[in-house]
Amino acid sequence: MRFQPNFKNWTSGNNSIDKFIQDTQLSSHKDVKEALEWIPYVRFYDIKYIAKDEFGKVYSSANWIDGNISMKYIYEYENFSYWDDENQNWKRNYPDMFVNLKSLNFPNDLTFELANKIKIEYRFYGITQDPETKNYMMVLNNKCKKCNKMCNVIYFQQKFIDWTSGNDNIDKFIQDIQLSAHGEYKTLEWIPYDRFYDIKYIAKGGFGKVYRANLTGEFVTKWDGINQNWKRNSKDMLVALKSLDNSKNIESEFINEALSD
Ligand SMILES: [Zn+2]
Repeated sequence: MRFQPNFKNWTSGNNSIDKFIQDTQLSSHKDVKEALEWIPYVRFYDIKYIAKDEFGKVYSSANWIDGNISMKYIYEYENFSYWDDENQNWKRNYPDMFVNLKSLNFPNDLTFELANKIKIEYRFYGITQDPETKNYMMVLNNKCKKCNKMCNVIYFQQKFIDWTSGNDNIDKFIQDIQLSAHGEYKTLEWIPYDRFYDIKYIAKGGFGKVYRANLTGEFVTKWDGINQNWKRNSKDMLVALKSLDNSKNIESEFINEALSD
């Protein structure tokens, strides 16, 4: 058992939490993913507050420097392994991983039952403590309810805090479309205007003015777990820009016309 020798090297400062994390580690014979870790708060950066719900729980997004224990194909054993023999430590393939922190209101009541409930909705990595508020927080990622895993929708969702069009209707509209792109990469994105060049006015069309422009092409192709961002192809391309005269009326009819072009 790889976890046990390390028990003396960490403590959450709370006996129940220590015991619970240890229990998950000791019972993870078959699947290391079932084990929770104690993750010191200093291993996170770029911690951003998202929201509070009716129970007063704090949700933050953060980047986890080490990333979760993840498996790697070991040619020697012709098998997948979580353990890195060379470094005598767990293999972690996704440094700087994006995670959510959610406060744990009753740290003394942690049970396998509760953890299993949480695991239905989330990928549950471990527990940390905000040194200022002393709140214990669960380190999680959302799972898609439809796909029962972290699909594209989750990765798009993680980026919502990184962009805004400046218009709530448009933000909501783009987000809704991204939230339905479970298995595909054809979706809408907010594209900052400075990625276009050589913009030329052409004519007035059904929905407003039409322009022709070059776009420094960077379109989502697939999720890159190592860089925690979308992999994009980069090819400049000619596109048409049509002005959206009334952003309140942005709806499916418009998008259907746009997609059929
Ligand atoms: Zn999904």
